[in-house]
Amino acid sequence: MSTDRGAVKEDRNLTQSGIYEIPPLKTGGLILTYRCSGSCKHCVYHCSQGKSNKWMSLERLKQTLDTLACEPLLEELHFAGGELGLNMKFTIEAIRATASRGLPVSYIQTNGFWSNDYDKSVEYFTKMKEAGLKKVWISVSPFHLEHIPFARTQTCIDAATTVFSRKNLIMRNEKKLLPLFSSLEKDRTYTLDEFCDVVGINKSIDELAEFYPVTLYGRACKNLKDYCKLSPASEFEGQNCAKYLLNENHFHLDPEGNLITGICPGISVATIEDLHPEITKAKFPVFCTLIEDGPYGLFLWAQKQSDFRWDDRSTFVSRCDLCLQIRIALLQSGIYLKDIHPQSYYENLI
Ligand code: SF4
Ligand code: SF4
Repeated sequence: MSTDRGAVKEDRNLTQSGIYEIPPLKTGGLILTYRCSGSCKHCVYHCSQGKSNKWMSLERLKQTLDTLACEPLLEELHFAGGELGLNMKFTIEAIRATASRGLPVSYIQTNGFWSNDYDKSVEYFTKMKEAGLKKVWISVSPFHLEHIPFARTQTCIDAATTVFSRKNLIMRNEKKLLPLFSSLEKDRTYTLDEFCDVVGINKSIDELAEFYPVTLYGRACKNLKDYCKLSPASEFEGQNCAKYLLNENHFHLDPEGNLITGICPGISVATIEDLHPEITKAKFPVFCTLIEDGPYGLFLWAQKQSDFRWDDRSTFVSRCDLCLQIRIALLQSGIYLKDIHPQSYYENLI
């Protein structure tokens, strides 16, 4: 089982001076929109159909690519959402613009909801390949099955295989999930509870992880609470977050130019205007406290702030749940901290 309840203490990025910097970026993605065709229970980035139909502007895209072209160690760039199939034209334009600058384009991530016609899907993927795309990540999971019938996912897989070949498709846990999903009724969706009943497992995140490991962060903290074991805040004492927040791999840049490191949307200290600012506790107290002392340290720090109100929660599904609840409480207490950002991330989470 590999849910992210906590990690071992990791000090490799800590400094004596307490001054930090985001290292040169290596692998990551451009989030072109937060809007999605569905609303998966586990979505870390809190995407949904309810988000505005706002996409990265062409001007922002150009600025982003120009800035990334100056990153000396950049190895891979992918494209993510939200759901990119909601705007194929812009997605293809973004791929072309990135590849034509000589940047290392890798894959797009899609949930395949749009793929109800094989020929049309082949046509889209062919255009993406011609624009410079190398691979496709297709999301297949019990969470996506709640809003996408497997027939569409299968058409997407078939079309992507035709254009890119099987070895250039990325799907998590496909050996287990594809035969299983193929045995279900393909033209309908299944709720998560129905999925658990069909495969004969308890409604437990640990048993679900055998099929699809979940990071217990973002919307998952609330939506999957009934599936999780709850722990007190003290359980997460001594788990700092340096290896996530100062991670040069799997970064994301969002439509507004915010840099998101690790798996931590809603915490951001850098933007495309300056990807490597000097990070100190005076400027970014939440970020630095998390780097040094993790969410339990943030819990202690927040309680020392005079206006901090903390009403209800005493148990959490994960360390990231504790972290998120403290940030929400800081926002609700009216304590303005510029590293709790972008604030739009917290809409409907609060
Ligand atoms: S399909 Fe992806 S982006 Fe959309 S809600 Fe699900 S996990 Fe989030
Ligand atoms: S900073 Fe917060 S969200 Fe990120 S890994 Fe640490 S606890 Fe989780």
